[in-house]
Amino acid sequence: MNDRHAGTLWVVATPIGNLGDLSPRAQGVLRGVALIAAEDTRHSRPLLEHFGIAAPLTALHEHNERAAVASLLARLQGGEDVALISDAGTPLVSDPGYRLVRAARAAGVKVSPVPGACAAIAALSVAGLPSDRFVFEGFLPPKPAARRARLRALADETRTLVLYEASHRIVGCCADLRDAFGAEREAVLLRELTKLHETCLGATLAEIAARVESDPEQRLGEFVLVIAGRDEDADTKLAEGRRVFAVLREELPPAQAARLAAAISGAPRKALYAQRAAD
Ligand code: SAM
Repeated sequence: MNDRHAGTLWVVATPIGNLGDLSPRAQGVLRGVALIAAEDTRHSRPLLEHFGIAAPLTALHEHNERAAVASLLARLQGGEDVALISDAGTPLVSDPGYRLVRAARAAGVKVSPVPGACAAIAALSVAGLPSDRFVFEGFLPPKPAARRARLRALADETRTLVLYEASHRIVGCCADLRDAFGAEREAVLLRELTKLHETCLGATLAEIAARVESDPEQRLGEFVLVIAGRDEDADTKLAEGRRVFAVLREELPPAQAARLAAAISGAPRKALYAQRAAD
């Protein structure tokens, strides 16, 4: 039950690059609140000034969230409206705010979303991979050993996977994805969404890893990786492809046998061709 005398905590999405993505409703809410809790006040001030929004700002980031919650809750319980924003996109999505939202709800304060940009959803909406079910993993662990362990645990996931990654880790991350999920797994690397240098690279994990390794421009900016889930039929197709390849190889050169076996079975041609070395 909401406290009728309390204000509302508005959770407001801000743009992930293009300022035009701050909705009219978001602008109105930000203009009307008594206080805006922002992840980094220096970062958000220019955005708010651009829209002529003069509400006072206070910092709420991962290092002060516990302490900031008490004073924000007191303001809300005193009847003031407060907005929560992060540096970009939707608060709480790989961003601070969880403790504040949880505390406000527990105290009976109304918490209401003002939806807008979110890099994960923007990426999924243009990746062209199955999106009826998906898993959002946020950032992988930064250290390579922990990252590889997490990826091994995810390798059998059949739903589309959405990841965030920082530019200084994108090369290592793509190489680890290729090694954990297989070179042939389909993926899309989305860079600088809604910005001037937006790019969308759809390819196999091997091709994406090679591209970020060789092209410095593909390592600049902000990234979302969308990775196809494991094809549940992949093992069956591969077994069938190998059987067909073995038969065709008796009569045909390996490249031609692999191409035909791949077309017949649906297994990846490269995986079948690679088998010739093992035979
Ligand atoms: N809360 C944000 C959201 O709703 O998307 C995400 C915040 S998280 C700290 C920042 C990460 O989101 C970046 O490192 C990057 O992986 C992703 N990201 C944010 N903006 C992006 C953009 N314009 N293009 C691609 N990825 C972006």
